[in-house]
Amino acid sequence: MVKPRGPICNLACDYCYYLPKAKLYPDSDFRMSLELLENFTRQLIEAQSGNQVTINWQGGEPTLMGLDFFKNAVDLQKSISPPNMQILNALQTNGTTINPAWCQFFKQNNFLIGLSLDGPPAVHNIYRRNNSGREKYDSVMRAARLLKQHKVDFNILCCVHKGNQDHPLDVYRFLRDKVDATFIQFIPIIQRELDSQSQETQVVSKRSVDAKAYG
Ligand code: SF4
Repeated sequence: MVKPRGPICNLACDYCYYLPKAKLYPDSDFRMSLELLENFTRQLIEAQSGNQVTINWQGGEPTLMGLDFFKNAVDLQKSISPPNMQILNALQTNGTTINPAWCQFFKQNNFLIGLSLDGPPAVHNIYRRNNSGREKYDSVMRAARLLKQHKVDFNILCCVHKGNQDHPLDVYRFLRDKVDATFIQFIPIIQRELDSQSQETQVVSKRSVDAKAYG
């Protein structure tokens, strides 16, 4: 798993556990250098005992590295890996930056995309928004349409939290029928509240899913 922009993201979801971690590295620009990318790729490939390796690109929002970074990453993979090795790439995105150029790249290089979507607009927009509070449902749906148009393999990553825990059928039918998703992952949001220093406390946030409701 690689987080080339660390916790940097263009959204500010209320339940994000990762954004506050930026404070741990006040001097970092949170950009993986090409030198580090090359070292990482080489060492990862050298460490394999089999002939297949999957690289999961995550964030923050990994597409904030820009398309050229990922073109470099794929070029490096091709130049470093031995002929019998297969390298698979998966990338998790909030969808807001996805455009036709990204989709062409994903398709050409066989990326598997995870798209974050928590359900119908009224549900998705409860906790997922940008810094100015603007809801981002429309841009995620646009990304889903583009990925489909370009025949990019993608699945939906649906966070289960207080806002959608009591509407499982609505969420499921929406993802199945409106988004036409063929693979859906559900992950529970269990989030600790932060104190004034952005340190985690023992208090579980009100946004977190109830155990029974998750079941
Ligand atoms: S899109 Fe993901 S990384 Fe970005 S703020 Fe939301 S939960 Fe955090």
